[in-house]
Amino acid sequence: MILYEYRCENCSENHELYVPVEQRHNQYCPVCGMKMRKLLSNAKPHIFKPYWDDMIDTQPIYIESAEQKKQELEKRGLQMRA
Ligand SMILES: [Zn+2]
Repeated sequence: MILYEYRCENCSENHELYVPVEQRHNQYCPVCGMKMRKLLSNAKPHIFKPYWDDMIDTQPIYIESAEQKKQELEKRGLQMRA
């Protein structure tokens, strides 16, 4: 699921929705039911769910953001893998 931003031209309002990738072009306004236009510029892939990164430590560390991962790596003198 990815958070996309849509615009309903009928209501002149933007809506943010979590949508399966394959349904991203097929979303309807929650207010009036008109088909909405997907706004490309604000698509925010949520690639970071908290997860245990065993490359960082043998103890569970739940990583919640790219920034946190970078900090945890730096604390241990490790490099972010490409
Ligand atoms: Zn609408």
